Amino acid sequence: MKLVLLGSGGFLPTETAQTACYWLPEAGLLLDAGSGLYRLADYMQGAELDIYLSHAHADHTSGLDYVFASFFKWEVSRAAQPLSEETITGLVERAHAARAQTRVHADEATLQVVQSKYSHSPFQWHPLQAEETVGGNGQLTHFLMEGGTQGFRLDWPGHALAYITDTVGTPTAAYVEKIAGVDVLLHDCQGAERHAGLQRKIGHSHLTAVVQVAARAQVKRLVLIHQAPLKELDYQDELEQARQTFPAVEAGYDRMEIDF
Ligand SMILES: [Zn+2]
Repeated sequence: MKLVLLGSGGFLPTETAQTACYWLPEAGLLLDAGSGLYRLADYMQGAELDIYLSHAHADHTSGLDYVFASFFKWEVSRAAQPLSEETITGLVERAHAARAQTRVHADEATLQVVQSKYSHSPFQWHPLQAEETVGGNGQLTHFLMEGGTQGFRLDWPGHALAYITDTVGTPTAAYVEKIAGVDVLLHDCQGAERHAGLQRKIGHSHLTAVVQVAARAQVKRLVLIHQAPLKELDYQDELEQARQTFPAVEAGYDRMEIDF
């Protein structure tokens, strides 16, 4: 399976890091819909789109505004006829139809907020089911995290991925068992250990706790996401030390592509 980090940052988009948006092209599936969604058209393989939202905050949902334009850009790029006065109506109609077929999945609390905010956009809204079937013959399960976000685990035959964001990383928490053994763990990391107290207070994770989570869950690879656009919270100087606890750790970046 392929995973593309369309937006690896959190909180606010920056010149180098758009906010939370992770694309699985073979499944036609997005994990969260932050500002990184504007890059989706560059990676689309079909008009089928399922979006799973971890929670309703803008850095995870503002990209819903770009779904129509993404389909339009994609339709233009693959059209047999060039964009012109004659062809534009058909291309717009196809993009509208694709957005109207797009399924947005989230828990009830998130749907309530997002559905009212995007009432003008005709998405298919789907409350999260205990087990979801996803593209590529896969399954998605979810679990409520500290802070109220949903954690996701996706399993396909021979491949597994977990996505944990906007929560306090805790090696002894129940979710560690849920993500056990995945090939790739995308985990919130907003700061270094020296900011552990601050991160806990704002509902995010620090590096030392996250590598302990990865080691305990025996995941194969840990990719740190949701870095805050604040140089005060940079954790690069602690990465070498963190590798002593879990060697296969790296900081995610925009347009990073991972095969697993
Ligand atoms: Zn966030």
